Amino acid sequence: MINITFPDGTVKQYESSITGLEIAKSISSKLAKEVLAIGVNGQTRDLTRPITEDATIQLYKFEDEEGKHAFWHSSAHIMAEALEAFYPGIKLGIGPTVDNGFYYDVDLPEGASLTDADFKKLEDKILELSRQKNDFIRTEVSKSDALKTFTEKGDEYKVELINDLEDGTITFYQQGQFTDLCRGPHLPNTGLVKAVKIMSLAGAYWRGNENNKQLTRVYGITFPKQKMLTEYLEQLEQAKQRDHRKLGKELELFAFSSRVGMGLPLWLPKGAALRERLENFLKKVQKDFNYSPVITPHIGNKELYITSGHFAKYGADSFQPIHTPQENEEYLLKPMNCPHHCEIYKTKPRSYKDLPIRFAEFGTVYRYEQSGELHGLTRVRGFTQDDAHIFCRPDQLKEEFLKVMDIVLYIFRVLKFEDFSAQISLRDKEDRAKYIGSEENWEKAEQAIVDAVAEKGIDAIVEYGEAAFYGPKLDFMVKDALGRKWQLGTIQVDYNLPERFELEYKGSDNQMHRPVMIHRAPFGSMERFVAVLIEHTAGKFPLWLTPEQAVILPISEKYNEYAKKVSKLLENYDIRSFVDERNEKIGRKIRDNELKRIPYLIIVGEQEMNDEVISVRKQGEGDKGVLKVEEFAQQIQKEIEEILVF
Ligand SMILES: [Zn+2]
Ligand SMILES: [Zn+2]
Repeated sequence: MINITFPDGTVKQYESSITGLEIAKSISSKLAKEVLAIGVNGQTRDLTRPITEDATIQLYKFEDEEGKHAFWHSSAHIMAEALEAFYPGIKLGIGPTVDNGFYYDVDLPEGASLTDADFKKLEDKILELSRQKNDFIRTEVSKSDALKTFTEKGDEYKVELINDLEDGTITFYQQGQFTDLCRGPHLPNTGLVKAVKIMSLAGAYWRGNENNKQLTRVYGITFPKQKMLTEYLEQLEQAKQRDHRKLGKELELFAFSSRVGMGLPLWLPKGAALRERLENFLKKVQKDFNYSPVITPHIGNKELYITSGHFAKYGADSFQPIHTPQENEEYLLKPMNCPHHCEIYKTKPRSYKDLPIRFAEFGTVYRYEQSGELHGLTRVRGFTQDDAHIFCRPDQLKEEFLKVMDIVLYIFRVLKFEDFSAQISLRDKEDRAKYIGSEENWEKAEQAIVDAVAEKGIDAIVEYGEAAFYGPKLDFMVKDALGRKWQLGTIQVDYNLPERFELEYKGSDNQMHRPVMIHRAPFGSMERFVAVLIEHTAGKFPLWLTPEQAVILPISEKYNEYAKKVSKLLENYDIRSFVDERNEKIGRKIRDNELKRIPYLIIVGEQEMNDEVISVRKQGEGDKGVLKVEEFAQQIQKEIEEILVF
């Protein structure tokens, strides 16, 4: 008998060689139908593999990452089997899982073609193979046997992969007539796959090396229920509608120009105004929290980044230095604001009474990204961080952390990111030599973060070994309206830069001490934040932020003058509006402007002009009745104040 420990700590005895599937069956037949893989002492395995010693187990369903992995990985095998059926002689590269589904890189036989038009028959074949309920059978093979199998099959890609493997670690998996080299784990059988969609094709060099042959990458996704696929495709369609690159163009917020350069966003007037409002919003909050704004240049002497350590770490993979024509100096595009802020700290002697000092800057930085990695506003080569550096005493860390968290939580509330979580990244306690800074300071800092998070009641996971060598950190992730996770703000403790820049303050003991530095950027960057905000709101920005808060629609040209007068009056109340003077029917004007996501539509005609009033419609809510301009303005101001109240 062996002891099996379950995640809740209960221990049950089973016959040796029991399988995960049998354990699931012993609990309930429902569970046995849903379970896809098993964790045995932390290693994910096939459900059908016998367990022969005491073990702590975890049963994985489709909801679990490990379950999805086994599901999609098995699906990649089924897709390969289907491809082989249509393309005898096809050679197979690798077939891993991705965030949403899986792919297989394949080398089609001479003259064969695979296009979108083939997707349907491929899907049908996959479902046909799935319905055969073929078991995934694992066998351990020797390296020589493995090489023999794939040499005979004529699949040089698998042969190359096997050559890189150690003898004694090689396993094959077979389902139906198809055998693949694979580490596993897989599903018990193909029958669990009930829905499939081939998503797309792409070209991919074998092993990512452009000197190698280009293979065809086939992307697919599968689910245990048809309904789940339908929902996934609907969500994908919604995501497409919300794509910030699409909406950014439609709403005239930003653009890119190949002449200006890849990954360098151009903020158009409406986007720049939106960004300015976000910056002003943050500036105000930061002022309330006693931050001091500073401004530093876009370039810095190479020596600065040698001192900071950035050059040694990132120099080779970054934009290369700019040389001055006369003095033979070298400058780098600023990759980070921190070194500049350290130099500001050093401009005068500091005492313990001066701390904490908080320097804030909307600092634009430039980082090289490969062209293939660039993506809208979320991956760019030039971006502006809502950056700040706090220099404080070790005993002030926790309070500073709490204050930064207050700012982050306020932002999330105002912008309606209601679903968020945090990750605390701490040291790997086994590997202390890896980290700079004293044991005592690390203990203090880590405890400060953990306590601060607990005090705020934030849902957080703790990851050991994820801290940077220079300090622990806290990252915030938000879920958008579609449930997608985005990483936003970071709060990072740093013992390294104060050391490298020899930052000091005079303590109450009259001795010199090193301050601790905190890097923090609640938005991350303006670019990334605006992208996330667009996708979260589908472009329906909150009233205080939106480029145009109201549009005035004269019923006919006769009322254009009165409409302009209303717009002017609203301007006096800081309300952004414009007049739709087009010679169109009022119904058409309403429809067009509703599509533009403008929150308030103001209609003016004979009656309104004579009574000096306006008729108000609110986006999504309809008619709001007749109001005086002042009344309307006060209503809007109140609506905004209620959101922005701290
Ligand atoms: Zn596999
Ligand atoms: Zn920094």
